[in-house]
Amino acid sequence: MKILVSNDDGYRAPGITALRTALSTLGDVTVVAPDRNRSGASNSLTLDVPLRVFEASEPNVHFVQGTPTDCVHLAVSGYFDFEHDMVVSGVNDGANLGDDVLYSGTVAAAIEGRFLGLPAMAVSLCTSPDSGRHFDTGAEVARRLVARLLAQRLDRPLILNVNVPDVPWDQVRGFRSTRLGFRHPSERIIPARDPHGRAVYWVGPAGPQQDAGPGTDFEAVSEGYVSVTPLQIDLTRHAALPAVKTWLEGIND
Ligand code: MN
Repeated sequence: MKILVSNDDGYRAPGITALRTALSTLGDVTVVAPDRNRSGASNSLTLDVPLRVFEASEPNVHFVQGTPTDCVHLAVSGYFDFEHDMVVSGVNDGANLGDDVLYSGTVAAAIEGRFLGLPAMAVSLCTSPDSGRHFDTGAEVARRLVARLLAQRLDRPLILNVNVPDVPWDQVRGFRSTRLGFRHPSERIIPARDPHGRAVYWVGPAGPQQDAGPGTDFEAVSEGYVSVTPLQIDLTRHAALPAVKTWLEGIND
């Protein structure tokens, strides 16, 4: 099996190194990842400048001056003379829970791999400023999920959004299938001054959890479980179609 590994923290991040090492026991791993931290890049593609791919010193590790989506797009759309079977993104330094998936470059890299033969997977470690950063736990979770996929396939196209408590592996309580929760709106922007006295602004932290109720990804992680949420790309709100159809009647008269 050929596994494409990417992330949004950059090709030198400890999380991607742990992931590459763990998945190497299951198949041939190729890394194509951004040259630097591109967290929050979402599904953006670079269209106004050409993309350059560089070889790192480790074998089969490539880095790109581009976004996570650029990386996976290159890898699955002709950069290699072979096809990958799946993409695994991570292990991200930070949770991607609830609405986070809309901004996440980690999840975006998995989404870009959704047309490969096996489900795509984004793995995030729910770190906090003073947690231990157990990337090996995240990598072991990914290894077990990929091994399970090989033994027992899931329907495609499917994207698995996986969040892992930041604890040693032997303290993980188990795996739960979950739905995305919701966050409150993010904190207000943080104004500051640059060295020239000009106004600049920082995007504030994500909001606290709003729907962290039963069955959510927030709940699973807070109780010490690995959260596995199946995602779909269809953003159509099918239930609202009749109301919008009625609302549009006569607008062109
Ligand atoms: Mn990140």
